Amino acid sequence: MRTEVTLQGLQAALSPVRLARKSIGFVPTMGNLHQGHIALVKEAKKYCDVVVVSIFVNPTQFGAGEDFEKYPRTLEADSQLLADAGCDMIFAPSVQQMYGNKPQLTTVQVDDIANDLCGKSRPGHFTGVATVVTKLFNMVQPNAAFFGEKDWQQLAVIRHLTTDLCFSIDIIGVPIVRDEQGLALSSRNGYLSSEEKQTAIQIYQTLKMVEQDIKSGQTDLDAILQRGRDYLASQGFVVDYLEARTPDLKPVNDIQQDMIILAAAKLGSTRLIDNLHIKSIH
Ligand code: AMP
Repeated sequence: MRTEVTLQGLQAALSPVRLARKSIGFVPTMGNLHQGHIALVKEAKKYCDVVVVSIFVNPTQFGAGEDFEKYPRTLEADSQLLADAGCDMIFAPSVQQMYGNKPQLTTVQVDDIANDLCGKSRPGHFTGVATVVTKLFNMVQPNAAFFGEKDWQQLAVIRHLTTDLCFSIDIIGVPIVRDEQGLALSSRNGYLSSEEKQTAIQIYQTLKMVEQDIKSGQTDLDAILQRGRDYLASQGFVVDYLEARTPDLKPVNDIQQDMIILAAAKLGSTRLIDNLHIKSIH
């Protein structure tokens, strides 16, 4: 496994891969890797000949007062995990490599779905994500790119920009990896105290409660969601949202249709997100 830190190095390393007509699978990450990320790498290995993982803590997707500075940077441990998972190449550019010295005048802004849910409480976040993913797509030029369903809204934004900007890249969503108690793995879980970690499980429990209410035939979706929000608040969360959307993030108008229940809530200073896909009961 090789590690490249410049665009020139990356392109030199990928040039023989392209010449040999091998397919390239790409997994963008911010590092501090866990088994959720590794699931993406394993999926990429199933589809593609060569797997490239980027590790880049992207400053432009963090808002003022968010955790950009303290976000864990653990390249050595990440490299070990990736080598064990069969990754072929790490691309770990510096901020300077990625953005250069001149002011960045071009950004990629996805409308509509990017302004909902996390977009409301994190203004500019998805523009930061969409811009850096576009740059990475141009740098790596993969055949397929792999994203976690944990960040369902991010996946929807990426799917849109890929179509809108005519990238010939297959976007593959990978199911959420959870710990044995149901907590979705996240680099931010490392911020939680052991007591907070026990409480954090309640996000998934709440999503399951919502699912249970829907499947048991209750028909007032607003009331079901409000009960979920109240429950999370009673457990000590500051709830950002608990909402239902269609899988492509449109409003739900039939409680029996396919839907995603999405949650974002803060425990102390740690913001957690999770979601659950509820399949249609028609
Ligand atoms: P991040 O490093 O947090 O930016 O995440 C990089 C990629 O890993 C994104 O596509 C995430 O959706 C995905 N990911 C993070 N956590 C999980 C998880 N628990 N299960 C599946 N994918 C995940």
